[in-house]
Amino acid sequence: MFENPRNVCVIGAGTMGSGIAAHLANLGLNVTLLDLTAQSVRTAFDKAKTARPPHFYIPGTADTVRLGSIEENLDWVSEADWVCEAIVEKLEAKKSLFARIEPLMKPDAIVTTNTSGLQISLLAADQSQAFRRVFMGTHFFNPPRYLKLLELIPTPDTSPQAIEAMTRFLEDKCARRVVIAKDTPGFIANRFGMWSMIYAVHVTERLGLSIEEVDAITGAFIGRPNSGSFRLNDLVGIDIMQDIADNLIRRCPEDPFVKHLATPKSMAALLEKGWIGEKAGQGFFRRSGHEIFAFDLTTHVYRMRQEIAFDSIKELGRLPLAERLPRALELRDQVGDFLREYLLPTLRYADYLKEEISHNVEDFDRVMKWGFGWEAGPFETIDIVGAERVGIGTMPSYQGRSILSFDGNYVPRKEEPQYASITDFPVIGEHEGFRVRDLGDHVHAVCATTKMGVYSPAMIRAMSSYLQSGKSQRIVLTSEAKVYSAGFDLKFLLEKVNEEDWDACDKALVDFQNLGLLLREIPGCAAVFGGCLGGGFEMAASCSCIAAAGESNIGFPESRVGLLPSGGGTPLMHVRNQESAKALVEAAKLLLLGTVARNADESRKRGFLRREDPTIYHPDRLITEAKRIALTAEPAGIPEWKVVAGPVPGMIERMQDELTKSGEITAHDCEIGDKIKHAIARAESFKDSLAKERAAFVELLKDGMTQTRIRHMIETGKPLRN
Ligand code: NAD
Repeated sequence: MFENPRNVCVIGAGTMGSGIAAHLANLGLNVTLLDLTAQSVRTAFDKAKTARPPHFYIPGTADTVRLGSIEENLDWVSEADWVCEAIVEKLEAKKSLFARIEPLMKPDAIVTTNTSGLQISLLAADQSQAFRRVFMGTHFFNPPRYLKLLELIPTPDTSPQAIEAMTRFLEDKCARRVVIAKDTPGFIANRFGMWSMIYAVHVTERLGLSIEEVDAITGAFIGRPNSGSFRLNDLVGIDIMQDIADNLIRRCPEDPFVKHLATPKSMAALLEKGWIGEKAGQGFFRRSGHEIFAFDLTTHVYRMRQEIAFDSIKELGRLPLAERLPRALELRDQVGDFLREYLLPTLRYADYLKEEISHNVEDFDRVMKWGFGWEAGPFETIDIVGAERVGIGTMPSYQGRSILSFDGNYVPRKEEPQYASITDFPVIGEHEGFRVRDLGDHVHAVCATTKMGVYSPAMIRAMSSYLQSGKSQRIVLTSEAKVYSAGFDLKFLLEKVNEEDWDACDKALVDFQNLGLLLREIPGCAAVFGGCLGGGFEMAASCSCIAAAGESNIGFPESRVGLLPSGGGTPLMHVRNQESAKALVEAAKLLLLGTVARNADESRKRGFLRREDPTIYHPDRLITEAKRIALTAEPAGIPEWKVVAGPVPGMIERMQDELTKSGEITAHDCEIGDKIKHAIARAESFKDSLAKERAAFVELLKDGMTQTRIRHMIETGKPLRN
């Protein structure tokens, strides 16, 4: 059943339906989107096209979604392998839609419902058994492009084959991580996640803390996103929180913890005024121009937001979470008071709920990690702080590769090698600025360990001599930082500029270019994610192939710090664009403007990635995909160089004139542009272009305007166009 599904029909074009349709279209599936009328589908989808953050990687993808109305085009359902219902949260509306689509569906198509609060099995209760066998709930997280978690909720009637087929499809083709949840109110995410959000508000009110204080405690300090508690409430929407809480209170009368879902006083006050969060322009926080105001929980009026700096957070903040949390719970200040009152009951509630709502504690933890961005799930947290301290027995939930099952035995965790992350592989070498990990099958990962994956001269030298040793025959070039690489080490350059040591700059660049040339001799694949900028991109592009995470910024921002690429970026852009003078001028323009593409697909459109450099849409499969590619890669070698016919230098000058006239570039940019022109259009070979870009780079370093740009970037993290 469900062989090679390609056609998806999403019904309901609201927030969720449009977001899901966009996400699936991004991945190349054939997507149909239906809403009540032709007008309503168009209006809703137009909104989705301009959503922030964007739903689409490339705007043109929106045109691949076929739009239609339930009134006129419901028969399109007959083409779908998967019918994904996402209409209003009304039992009768959903049931009557299922009655209408059942006769139209092709045999073995899967049908799912998106609901936050309805019981899945009730929705299909009136349909045939055949329908119920292929029917289940999906709980996508919003926005679907960015949040990988999907709770899949089968009913007792759903066939195991349908569950298995849908799980495979969602994980392999839809870039999701699936957690199978039970058909209980709110599933795992809303039942527990919402409780923990609302309970934090109650504890804040009870202890008389401010919302800024609690956000400082409940953000990164306890391994949660920086949005903390109250900024998260504003993002989710206080009205939505209230709806979910009301539904849970109604549907879970036996649960002794649901009394804490009663609306906190501050939330009631905000709801009454319609100040329900971001979408209303204000909630717990209100932005006015550059100023941010905070809602005072005692007076219920806004006041200036305060910066909070708890000494204890500063002191413990540097420790790893596993050491930080137990010590934080001992603190004799407001931080410790809050965490004892908030965190321990929250963990007790997770323990109370676990068997009712999840199949195992790992699933439970995954929902909170993947859906809410927690560094450790509640059961991992219980292991960190100790089950005894939480008051729920003594046995840890995790023991090596085993987890504690609900009947009290340790059972092996599911093996999922396809999702291995870089840190799952053994380290076989530690070097200056990078380490080597064994990915198996004679492929080694060469992983930057510098901050932001920056290429520093010391690391470049160490990496070159390591690669020359021949110890790694096939490589995956990547990083263990938060991003793949922010580029060459600017701080080193500024230091040498201050010393006016131009020889040291040139020497460092020679080493850097040589590292690029060396990478061209080794079969391998770069695994890039987050930022892949400047020098980092040059090294990636020297590998046989680049596997790029969908969410990667890729490009050459050098001109923003008054420079041009110098690790082989200029010859790279030449050989990528040597088919015509026009293409070469466009490439020079990209360099001059310091262009960085916002995602992998856009960078392919801009020519930074080639067609053979794949986008890895699944956020957890980058390393295994890069390894798979590395296994059969051929060394990149030095590309063939063609001198481009036509008056390219003159065309580049005209392009610069136009950009100057339109105010897009300054006189100093023109200086940079002249140097780009020289290295890209006047070079006679790849190596000649390398020499030219390097000489130009050092020249620019001597220029005060460039130096000002570099200093500004290092000091503020922002570019200056002087
Ligand atoms: P929405 O209100 O943004 O969109 C609902 C869409 O359904 C609208 O485009 C509307 O025109 C259409 N519609 C209304 N009545 C209809 C009917 N009788 N027949 C067919 N279409 C009809 O809602 P949403 O936020 O996209 O939510 C859709 C579903 O997903 C709901 O069941 C909701 O509970 C669930 N859900 C939403 C979120 C979220 O974050 N928004 C998260 C998880 C689940």
